[in-house]
Amino acid sequence: MRRSVSIVFVFLAVLGMGLPLAAQQFPPPFQEPYTTASLWNDLMRGNTVYKGGSLPYTGIAGARERTADKQNPPVTVLSCSDSRVPPELVFGRTVGDLFVVRVAGNVADPFEIASIEYAIDHNWTKLIVVMGHQNCGAVVEALKTDDPPTPSLVSLVQRIRESFVGLPLWPEKDRVERGVKANALSSAAYLLAHSTVIRKAVLDKRVGLIVAYYKLESGEVEVLQQ
Ligand SMILES: [Zn+2]
Repeated sequence: MRRSVSIVFVFLAVLGMGLPLAAQQFPPPFQEPYTTASLWNDLMRGNTVYKGGSLPYTGIAGARERTADKQNPPVTVLSCSDSRVPPELVFGRTVGDLFVVRVAGNVADPFEIASIEYAIDHNWTKLIVVMGHQNCGAVVEALKTDDPPTPSLVSLVQRIRESFVGLPLWPEKDRVERGVKANALSSAAYLLAHSTVIRKAVLDKRVGLIVAYYKLESGEVEVLQQ
């Protein structure tokens, strides 16, 4: 009896010592070996903390120091420029964790594709996340029948419009959400269609590809395709 009590005591003591240690490090490093599932789980763990409303970041100076002369971010994110969708916060990650390409409407053209290819070529990327978000202004503009006021904006919304397959059948109340989701899926397909480097890496299963949808109110990230 005494033995089992002392074992329980030791267990509790170790647990008690472990908690502050765990609390001291946020976010914990990505778990190796990197797979699509392990990286996504780590992103979702960070997202759960973010949804809770506070991120207990620690070790930022250490992360800066470790990455000052090198980086190895295993996740590349293509997401919108929208100020309400900061990937590092949404996924609860820190300096050196994410290679992020942000552009209004999370669509890719040569420079965005080049950025993603650069990270793959350096053998950093193991997972690409293409993330659209609730109430995306770029998608709202693309859904309008009038064109926006500048040639650059017109070419952006025209690209987004290409993804609106079946638009006349979409119920009015769901149009923005359906547009955002169609655009995110189309944007991921565009990467595969227009970059041999990305396509080969994904087909060879060296790099995973997940399409996601971010909800502004709850902070939740939903998987659309993987
Ligand atoms: Zn947006």
